[in-house]
Amino acid sequence: MSAPPELDLSTDVLALTRALVDAPSVSGSETALADAVEAALRALGGLEVERIGDTVLARTNLDRPGRVVLAGHLDTVPIADNVPSRLDETTGRLYGCGTSDMKAGDAVMLRLAATFGVPGAEPAHDLTFVFYDNEEVESVKNGLGRVARERRGWLYGDLAVLLEPTDGEIEAGCQGTLRAVLSTKGRRAHSARSWLGENAIHGLAGALAALAAYRPREVEIDGCTYREGLNAVGIAGGVAGNVIPDESSLTVNFRYAPDRDEDAAEAHVREVFAEAIAAGATLTVVDNAGGALPGLGEPAAAAFIAAVGRPARAKLGWTDVSRFAAFGIPAVNYGPGDPQLAHTREEHVLVERLQPAVDALTAYLSGSSS
Ligand SMILES: [Zn+2]
Repeated sequence: MSAPPELDLSTDVLALTRALVDAPSVSGSETALADAVEAALRALGGLEVERIGDTVLARTNLDRPGRVVLAGHLDTVPIADNVPSRLDETTGRLYGCGTSDMKAGDAVMLRLAATFGVPGAEPAHDLTFVFYDNEEVESVKNGLGRVARERRGWLYGDLAVLLEPTDGEIEAGCQGTLRAVLSTKGRRAHSARSWLGENAIHGLAGALAALAAYRPREVEIDGCTYREGLNAVGIAGGVAGNVIPDESSLTVNFRYAPDRDEDAAEAHVREVFAEAIAAGATLTVVDNAGGALPGLGEPAAAAFIAAVGRPARAKLGWTDVSRFAAFGIPAVNYGPGDPQLAHTREEHVLVERLQPAVDALTAYLSGSSS
């Protein structure tokens, strides 16, 4: 690899975004970029900085009445011939791996650190910055999860803002996701004498009918509408073209609103398949990650929404905001990138989205927006 990148936090948010994109940091190889971020934050002189693996933590300790946590992951998905970054002046787009997801958001955070993380700065809230590794891979490696397990105190705050791409909108809370496998057993037989067997695939018919007839809920919480969904996402079974199958399984995914917790979500899925289960099918939950309530009634969240000047909408996917919600901290996603472009070859960010994100957060954090 080339020389370690250097980050000049006094440059503008576009230049910083480009510098971050031009320092490749595919999941698992964030060290050089984390080194650069750590060095730049330490040089500011107004932040307590700590390093845990390739996660860089920094905070002010000014005894302000509230604390805001800003978080962004440093890693990207694998590069698709789109590094270094390329600025298209005519369309005002900055292309490159991680531009949208989420180095533009990281650059916004670095600009805020340069403003509020210097001696003599007077933010209205204390600030914590979390630049973490391994977000784009298995959740056990997630740097934010590691901080939650090993240094929970670093994540304490009155509001957490994740700068994931949201197109400049505020996305609150997130839905939970549960994956389960419904298995049926039967008895093998030659298909020429099928009455001697019991068809395990046919045993799923009732469960499929229940899914087809299922009416998902729409739930409004704090003005955000969460839409649930319970769907088959896989089906397996069959031995050979002349055999009555003795095993079959249906994989389902339940996306649930954050007014249900993990246990309630599982209970609901068991209820939907109650008939099949009573008839001998077994339901095994493979994974279940609870969502996060928007928590917009909290004063810190309400003030944030007022400062950004956009209404909050529901986050339908599962995101790291739920790691904050687990501690009772309201958390929102708010970032300059376009989520639809994340992980694509054409990934880019609109240059005109960058500075407004810096300005909105600066207004909020300096208390000048109320
Ligand atoms: Zn991301």
